[in-house]
Amino acid sequence: MIIKDAKFLMSNTKVEACPAPNKPEYAFIGRSNVGKSSLINMLTEQKSLAKTSGQPGKTQLINHFLINNEWYLVDLPGYGYAKVSKSSREEWRRMINFYLQKRENLTCVFVLIDSRHEPLQVDLDFIDHLGTMGVPFVIVFTKVDKQSALKTDSTIAAYKRKLAETWDELPQMFRTSSEKSTGRDEVLGFIEQVNAQ
Ligand code: GDP
Repeated sequence: MIIKDAKFLMSNTKVEACPAPNKPEYAFIGRSNVGKSSLINMLTEQKSLAKTSGQPGKTQLINHFLINNEWYLVDLPGYGYAKVSKSSREEWRRMINFYLQKRENLTCVFVLIDSRHEPLQVDLDFIDHLGTMGVPFVIVFTKVDKQSALKTDSTIAAYKRKLAETWDELPQMFRTSSEKSTGRDEVLGFIEQVNAQ
């Protein structure tokens, strides 16, 4: 897919205030600092479309971008930031659950996972949650330039083993580096293919 146009539309806390659900929507989510903003900027080839995190966990907003006037890219607030208060965490949980359940044009969630770490419970819990709710999702292993391909292979294999304990079918998985644009064609190709269905 060629990105001809990518623009920020709006930020919301409420699903009802989001843009009309008249285009396929792809949402990006992951732990704070996983590289979500960098990935969005890499995919859209814009330096600062999504803001790279200055204050992780501070703003909890659903950010909509319009791509090629054809589909919505959504930047969802991250999870798992240790310094966030219990009430903020609860607020996040409520907002995200509402979004995942009610956003009728939500086509696929990209769950971002740092490829350097062994499976983390917070990520496994979120993936299980999506599966239980029946929300379509794929996994993106980020920052693969930070280590050898073998190490990334081993992280991915560990996730597959963990997920296979609960799920019969494993989600599609991508590996990306925002530094090197690794995985850009694969992720955009996937979106193009789903949009065409
Ligand atoms: P967010 O909080 O998930 O939006 O994460 P950011 O995109 O702000 O990235 C967090 C940190 O990781 C920043 O210092 C980025 O420069 C760095 N980072 C993000 N993606 C990559 C990547 O693919 N490779 C490398 N080497 N660093 C990355």
